[in-house]
Amino acid sequence: MDLDFTAEDRQFREDARAWLMANVTREPRPHEGRELREYDLAWQRKQYEGGWAGVSWPVEYGGLGLSLTRQLIWFEEYARAEAPDNHLCFVGLNHAGPTLIAKGSEEQKAYHLPRLLKGETVWCQGFSEPNAGSDLGSLRTKAEIDGDHLVVNGSKIWTSHGHLADFQELLVRTDPDAPKHKGISWVICDMTTPGMDLRPINIMTAPHHQHFVQVFYDDVRIPLSNVVGDLNDGWKVAMSTLGFERGTAQIKDQIRYAVLVERMIEEARARFGGNSPLSKDEIGSRLAQLRADMAAARAMTYMVVSRAQAGIQGSEASLMRAMVGEVQQRARRLALDIIGPDALENPEDDDRVFYYLRSYSITIAAGTAEVQRNIIGERVLGLPRG
Ligand SMILES: Cc1cc2nc3c(=O)[nH]c(=O)nc-3n(C[C@H](O)[C@H](O)[C@H](O)COP(=O)(O)OP(=O)(O)OC[C@H]3O[C@@H](n4cnc5c(N)ncnc54)[C@H](O)[C@@H]3O)c2cc1C
Repeated sequence: MDLDFTAEDRQFREDARAWLMANVTREPRPHEGRELREYDLAWQRKQYEGGWAGVSWPVEYGGLGLSLTRQLIWFEEYARAEAPDNHLCFVGLNHAGPTLIAKGSEEQKAYHLPRLLKGETVWCQGFSEPNAGSDLGSLRTKAEIDGDHLVVNGSKIWTSHGHLADFQELLVRTDPDAPKHKGISWVICDMTTPGMDLRPINIMTAPHHQHFVQVFYDDVRIPLSNVVGDLNDGWKVAMSTLGFERGTAQIKDQIRYAVLVERMIEEARARFGGNSPLSKDEIGSRLAQLRADMAAARAMTYMVVSRAQAGIQGSEASLMRAMVGEVQQRARRLALDIIGPDALENPEDDDRVFYYLRSYSITIAAGTAEVQRNIIGERVLGLPRG
């Protein structure tokens, strides 16, 4: 593992820091709807026009063609500058894009990758179904070949921001007779295709902000040319998507939390000063533990990036996902404990309350903590299957 930064890496960091300092927008991010979409796409466009989009993506599709180390440095500076979390671009930039780079056809790459980098399109993920979440291989949404199209029928659930998306990375069963992991295909679904019905799902943390939809497909026709990788080989394609989702895609978030912990330390200092030894001791030791865990998570991030750079896209991403998810939940809880009863004053508008409630979902999204532990046990530690 090589953790050293070269002189060029350090220069890259300085340039990134200077650009971010001059360009990060301080406009508050809207919580929902078309305004949210416009905000996130505009910020992505600004990064593209500034020459900073797609740091590790191939040059021929609009990226900078640089190493994953530089991508890591960019994420670090991005988080340090507290640049907006353009979450609507997350699926496109962090898993659909990398999946297309790894498995897409020339036409698919040429069409989609530049649009993603320029902030022109939003993608969503259509993997989970009402009876296929952790056991994704049991998915039943079927697609039958009719001429040069697939005809899709079924339903996907928990589709984040599906109602604001242009495209969906969709997993469908194309061979019902094959063993369950062998008859699946990964396809690009245009969200404007006739036959799609999007129904909102309300959730506790955002009763006024639509986050999820359930999507119903009724004879939805998707060109066969939208299959990514080979027909019936979608499980392998999906595993590379999930590898990105659980690994490198988490880096920016993880660094963002390290910045948050430093802010929490400042806030605790300002609130408690030297006068409240009991709470200071309790909060102080939890903050110290959190800072140490963040340092460990960062070392693990470097390991995952370093191995990915060497072409090893392994299950250790699950290690990072499992550890970081739990550390993030503790950070959100501690942020509330520092402000104490003040958290109850304005809970609707207080981001700290919102993110605390939302933190429960961190160990569910992108594969639950239990599933990550199964993967670590079986594929990293080599334990027998339970
Ligand atoms: C914030 C958020 C955003 C999401 N966005 C999307 C999205 O955009 N697109 C999408 O497709 N999906 C999305 N999901 C869905 C997510 O991928 C699933 O919720 C997740 O995979 C779990 O599936 P499930 O909800 O069906 O739970 P289940 O699989 O039914 O699991 C229920 C419980 O059983 C446990 N369990 C299940 N199997 C095992 C096992 N083998 N060993 C031990 N324990 C087990 C689980 O850990 C869990 O505690 C999102 C979820 C969240 C919370």
